[in-house]
Amino acid sequence: MRTVVNGCAIATVDGAGTEYPHGHVVIDGDRITAVGAGDFDGPADQVIDGRGCLATPGLVNTHHHLYQWATRGLAQQSNLFDWLVELYPVWAGIDDELVYVTTAAGLGALALSGCTTAADHHYVFPRGSGDLIGTQVEAAGAVGVRLHACRGSMDLGVSQGGLPPDSVVESTDAALAATAEAIERHHDPSPSSRVRVAVAPCSPFSVTSDLMREAASLARAHGVRLHTHLAETVEEDAFCRDRFGCTPVEYAEKLGWLGDDVWLAHGVHLDDGAVARLGATGTGVAHCPSSNARLGAGIARVRDLLDAGAPVGLGVDGTASQEAGELGPELRQAMLVARLRGGPAALTAREALALGTTGGARCLGRDGELGSLEPGKLADLALWRIDGIGHAGIDDPVAALVFGPPARVEALLVGGRPVVRAGRLVHADEDSLARDLTRVSRTLLRKAGR
Ligand SMILES: [Zn+2]
Repeated sequence: MRTVVNGCAIATVDGAGTEYPHGHVVIDGDRITAVGAGDFDGPADQVIDGRGCLATPGLVNTHHHLYQWATRGLAQQSNLFDWLVELYPVWAGIDDELVYVTTAAGLGALALSGCTTAADHHYVFPRGSGDLIGTQVEAAGAVGVRLHACRGSMDLGVSQGGLPPDSVVESTDAALAATAEAIERHHDPSPSSRVRVAVAPCSPFSVTSDLMREAASLARAHGVRLHTHLAETVEEDAFCRDRFGCTPVEYAEKLGWLGDDVWLAHGVHLDDGAVARLGATGTGVAHCPSSNARLGAGIARVRDLLDAGAPVGLGVDGTASQEAGELGPELRQAMLVARLRGGPAALTAREALALGTTGGARCLGRDGELGSLEPGKLADLALWRIDGIGHAGIDDPVAALVFGPPARVEALLVGGRPVVRAGRLVHADEDSLARDLTRVSRTLLRKAGR
């Protein structure tokens, strides 16, 4: 099966930054076999007309909590800790159906905003809720997006000095056993994998040091990656200094949580030493600019992290703290907040696009097969329409995409297979996803007495 995309501008995001004002991409099976200037006029089973569009690698989302699609619009003026304390009791009521619906709807929204691979960090497992990671895998398969399911966990309840209520935490042993089971059942290490599992205890204020240490050993024994929240807010920084006598990054290092198999969500409050350690160890950062802004958490030092050599990807974060949940607009948001922090040259449009593609692929350990449009890589591609009123007349297509308003995704291919066509999901119905989302959200809020 050969698919050809003709007539579009192309930003390959390869190492040399190769771009074509008018070019083609040839896909055989699930791989890219050629990228070049002009139209391809050889044989093809399917030709996608890319005129008026920009082709980029499919975007990679490095941090999310898809179940939070059911709890949007709450605690609107709260900082992270107050927001969590208000929401934990609501989340205690999630079930298998809610996880299916929110995963499908959230991945649908991501696909419609250019995302072909999404990491999700799920850390709420009410007793008796079954194999929720398996439910997410099923929903991702139905939408057609690659999933990196991060099996989260919490074992430090409020009675032990943590933040979450005891009712939503697991025991250390149960969390480790369930994480091992998720890897054994669902992790596919193959290069063309559509499902990978990572080990992901939640955060310093909801997880014991024992679980952090054991989780790192478990991940390394299975050859899977490690993910957690770190250095998100000043309150977390104070918590770590108070409880552990060190900064969050020093704490992570003591527990074996720095390395090129680790990526951390946020990394907002980092001193110079921490930035240098993340760079030297190759530890990745999932930068979530809209969530950080919504919670008033601060602006991450993305320019400094890049200069230090740390992999940096983009994340929408959970949609209870970033109600938009779309990845395309985060390119713009990342560029703008970097400039608020470091001036107008702090991050270019092309660097923002690289965060959302190659940077994300590095965070997930998949830069060998994802993140750029190059022969040999998996055919994950977003085709953005840039000839409408929002973008027309901007000569530089990458500037149109990143500086301009959110661009409609004309087509999205994952492993060469269409997931979005003419701006609509191919395998799922948006209207019924929206109806299901309304229903499960209302049921959950009613259960929580809200
Ligand atoms: Zn998060």
